[in-house]
Amino acid sequence: MNNKTNYEYLLSDLSSLKGVGEKTKSLLKKKNINNLFDLLWKLPKSYTDRSLSVKIKDLKIGETQTVTIVPQKYNFPRVRKLPNRVLCNDETGEIDCVFFNSYEGYVKKILPLGKEITVSGKIGHFRNKYQITNPKYISEDSALIKKTHNKYSLTEGITEKIYNKIINQIIENLPDFKEWHSEYILSKFQNISWNNSIKELHRAENIGNFKSNFYQRLAFDEIFSTFLVNSEIRKKIRKIKKRSKIINLNKQKSIINKLDFSLTKDQIKSLNEINKDLSSSNKMFRLLQGDVGSGKTIVSLLASINTINSGFQVAFMAPTEILARQHFTLAKKIFPTNINIELISGKSEYKVKKIILRKLENNQINIIFGTHAIFQKKVIFKKLGLIIIDEQHKFGVNQRKRLSDKGGPNCDVLLMTATPIPRTLTMTIYGDMDVSIIREKPKRRKPIKTYSKLEVKIEDVLKFIKKEIKLGNQIFWVCPLIEESKKLDHSSAVKKFEYLKQKFPNEVCLLHGKTDITEKNEILNNFLKNKFKILVSTTIIEVGIDFPNANVIVIENANKFGLSQLHQLRGRVGRGDKDSTCILLFKSNLSENAKKRIKILKETNDGFLISEEDMKLRGFGDILGFKQSGIKNFKLADPIHNSDLFLLAEKEMRRIENSNEDIRKFKPLIKLYDRADIINDIA
Ligand code: ADP
Ligand code: MG
Repeated sequence: MNNKTNYEYLLSDLSSLKGVGEKTKSLLKKKNINNLFDLLWKLPKSYTDRSLSVKIKDLKIGETQTVTIVPQKYNFPRVRKLPNRVLCNDETGEIDCVFFNSYEGYVKKILPLGKEITVSGKIGHFRNKYQITNPKYISEDSALIKKTHNKYSLTEGITEKIYNKIINQIIENLPDFKEWHSEYILSKFQNISWNNSIKELHRAENIGNFKSNFYQRLAFDEIFSTFLVNSEIRKKIRKIKKRSKIINLNKQKSIINKLDFSLTKDQIKSLNEINKDLSSSNKMFRLLQGDVGSGKTIVSLLASINTINSGFQVAFMAPTEILARQHFTLAKKIFPTNINIELISGKSEYKVKKIILRKLENNQINIIFGTHAIFQKKVIFKKLGLIIIDEQHKFGVNQRKRLSDKGGPNCDVLLMTATPIPRTLTMTIYGDMDVSIIREKPKRRKPIKTYSKLEVKIEDVLKFIKKEIKLGNQIFWVCPLIEESKKLDHSSAVKKFEYLKQKFPNEVCLLHGKTDITEKNEILNNFLKNKFKILVSTTIIEVGIDFPNANVIVIENANKFGLSQLHQLRGRVGRGDKDSTCILLFKSNLSENAKKRIKILKETNDGFLISEEDMKLRGFGDILGFKQSGIKNFKLADPIHNSDLFLLAEKEMRRIENSNEDIRKFKPLIKLYDRADIINDIA
């Protein structure tokens, strides 16, 4: 198919390319290149300018050069292993063209004797004579050879020639799109069209020209399409009418008064935003984003009680049983006794479960806590009014959308994440939701002291730990992350466990990826009850669990972790009122870059700031939460360098939302770029 006015041409699969065999196609597919559009982002890495033809006497050995020569004599040896040679010359000297594994007929065809031919390739020297081995680009028409020849990274096993051929083919057949942007947006990019931008992008001379209008426009299109899709989802959810909840502020206040702390400003602000949504007649789809320990739980429980007081049920889902139990216990403690609170656990007996299910169906339970089990089909609510999902960063946008459909129109949705990420990424990943942010930490909290230590000085660390244990405190010991192998990961944790057990008999417990779930819960519960002093583990301990008594965390081989991850690990301590410490162990002296990272960690405990810095140092692809978000990486746009484009895209998206502009003109853009594949029904 080659419909020039249609985006579908670009979405057609690779078989619509001429001159592409099955082998090439399967190689491309392996690289996740499935259609013509995907191929457009395969950009040249460098190029050879073959127009600068050189005379033989001026050739430089070791360089790739172009030379116009006349073949004089064939030398086709009988011995198979020896290469075919063609003796050539120009008016200044002689050169051999050498062909390994070639047919005589082929050589004769491309290098006919007596004709002027332009060849190009790496210049070598053999037996006192210039030679070119397997000259790559040979044509009788030397005008053709004057074009630049793009080089691509060739790890895929596809030759440059094929890349040049197929990409040129697509570019020559680009559909004739009608401009989708407003004049204002277009003027930001000197009015360059999408097609021309693509063409410029593929001109090898333009490699790395990130500030150019064509590059910026294409990056903008990519960001903007994501925002548009997000906006469409949000609009759809907002359109859903629901019965509004009536917030009883007095009852809310009586619970707040019972707490032994006062809410932070950000907690109050977030709670107000949620309450406003609950009492509106539109369905809520909101994210509560706040660093570890910022106090999201209490905010969500207050939203729960408000929902319950308005006559609705609440389903509160946590990622693990322990966490579900902690939330459940807290609710029991602070909610009035007339509220029916239940916990559904994997361990609950069948009979008990059955009773719970029946009660839920009869509206005899006001709030239920549990893991994903609470969303099974057989769990039926009589009057579900709010779904809360804690630590949900493992969900992609598709799963979220499905969730928002659950529970029917009267059901509001509140998601919580403890992964602070830069704003540009929040807009990208969570743009389909409204976002409340808790940035400020509870006041009482003492900052975690962060130290870095060389591993050879482990004795100092042990001494320190001994002291802390004497004071009644507990310690997390996180073993190195061994990316290459889960097996090694596990064995290093076991080794460390054995080592520490000798130093601290009967006080150490171990948790690793192979520990089964029941055992794991038991170990965590025992640690929570202070039966052990040191918990050795790989990185699997959940982020959300409150271990108020643990105030030291030792992280081995800390350079293997990203900043955000170190910050998250560190966040497992420092939740109580005690002084807490994070010790980062390193194998060798720190590199400059590592020193920079550690400095940031020592200086601040603000997860949002740390994630910004992390992104600057490592790029956004590695940022915690982004990988799990299910969003494919941007091809050109970069949340670090293009933050201005993100802001511009957000502004334009809001303008379109507010003006109720028809978005059908963006159809090609959305169809081409819809990275989440969720908007299928734009007319
Ligand atoms: P997270 O946001 O990581 O879920 P939690 O809700 O588990 O954090 O809160 C962590 C700890 O902070 C809990 O022990 C909680 O009681 C406490 N906390 C919450 N809000 C405040 C506050 N405003 N002042 C003091 N402590 C608070
Ligand atoms: Mg939490």
